[in-house]
Amino acid sequence: VTAKLTAREYLRVSADKSGTLRSPQEQHADNAGAASREGWALGEPYRENGAVSASRYGHKARHGFDALVTDLAADRFGAQVLMLWESSRGSRRVGEWATLLDHCQDHGVLIHVTSHHRTYDPARPRDRRTLMEDAVDAEYESGKVSERVTRAMAANAAAGEPHGRVPYGFKREYDLTPAGKRILRGQFRDPAVAPVIEHIYDQIRELVSLRAIAATLNSEGIPAPGGGRWTPTAVRDLALNPAYAGQRIHVAGRRSGHDRTKDGTLVKATWKGIVSEETFFAVRAILTDPRRRTSRPGRDKHLLSMIAICDVCDGPLSIRYRRGSGEYACRNSGHVHIPQAELDIYIEAAILSRFRGKDAYPAMTTHDRSPELQSARDEKAAIEAHYLSMKRQLRERRMTPEAFAEVEPGVLADLAKAQKRVRELEAPPALQHLLGDPGESIDTRWDALPMAARREVVRIVFERLSLKRAPSPGHRAHVGKRTDMVWNARLRW
Ligand SMILES: [Zn+2]
Repeated sequence: VTAKLTAREYLRVSADKSGTLRSPQEQHADNAGAASREGWALGEPYRENGAVSASRYGHKARHGFDALVTDLAADRFGAQVLMLWESSRGSRRVGEWATLLDHCQDHGVLIHVTSHHRTYDPARPRDRRTLMEDAVDAEYESGKVSERVTRAMAANAAAGEPHGRVPYGFKREYDLTPAGKRILRGQFRDPAVAPVIEHIYDQIRELVSLRAIAATLNSEGIPAPGGGRWTPTAVRDLALNPAYAGQRIHVAGRRSGHDRTKDGTLVKATWKGIVSEETFFAVRAILTDPRRRTSRPGRDKHLLSMIAICDVCDGPLSIRYRRGSGEYACRNSGHVHIPQAELDIYIEAAILSRFRGKDAYPAMTTHDRSPELQSARDEKAAIEAHYLSMKRQLRERRMTPEAFAEVEPGVLADLAKAQKRVRELEAPPALQHLLGDPGESIDTRWDALPMAARREVVRIVFERLSLKRAPSPGHRAHVGKRTDMVWNARLRW
């Protein structure tokens, strides 16, 4: 009776892109089958956490592999067979592989390669040569893969350069080499068209509707990008294009800077924007605000309709006309109603006095000096600088493409987080506009706001604005006794 042998597996997540490799679970299943055919007991496997490349171009430490080598060297392996699914699973670094074979030989450990259906004895020269040849081949293959990755990554890193169709409002300038070859010098603001872009951003910031912006551009005979007439959608698409802020959307490991996927991160491009980053983000916040409704003509005529609610049923108040004058009324069931002017005047006064208050106004207007915002902006700038330096190192070949690919997603995620934080700390765009110029009285600026912008302010400043029933029918109660205002606590009043 021979003593039952014990085998231990080395499993790792495949980082190979060929797609034909097996997952650790599948490898384990194959190994277990082989072990049972051979009559071996399976011991605790060695496994890597996360995706780890075994190639010498990979950089992440491989704890499982290191543990395996350390255990073999210290005679703690505790088994007679090492199982690998294929020999290059062990290591693609020839030197490392040779060390592993030496340790196995020293401690009399056999190596079973499941995909070969074979058990090798590293002490036998013929077996050893076969295993070493495999490792040399694997290293050569992995070198070829790395070369391909290098080329792809170089293209990727260069994606901050303008490419593809020239965005509306920009022009590209080229230099001619003595041989007559055109070399891109850069992408620049086209002075003939850029003012149209600036106008569009200004108008959206002032909460002019997309429909009205398109109509004005059409009436002035300005052609839309690609010719033809402007539509609200064309205006919106243009305003959401980060190229105008000198930015582009980048998804880690992907080359194109064109797609506007949500999971991408905005990174600085090599060209200068037409509008400031701050303007771009303010406009984007306006356009992507979930509370924003497509404005239809006649919709935005009243300050509080569909914003204030009925205190009885939480349904919206809408405008109805009685004897020629408007009143807000519970749209669902008519629980409550009040003359329009009465409620409008009361709410306007409440908002303006709130902004005139000593605390609220400075806190919102001097947001540039808030230490929190300053440190958020510093943080964002630091991550941007770090990312740029990584790309420079990659271009100058001081960083390997695999190392770049490994850290890039994390850096982009940090950058997106920092950008979000800055935007959260900045006052909402509609308020920035209202509070914009402290030299002018708040009342003057309120009067100058279009109705859509005032409604936006109302939406922002109140968490809830509801109208209660009059205390007893027939008795007119003061409007202040009938309104319930819950101010938005997330604003830094
Ligand atoms: Zn109601």
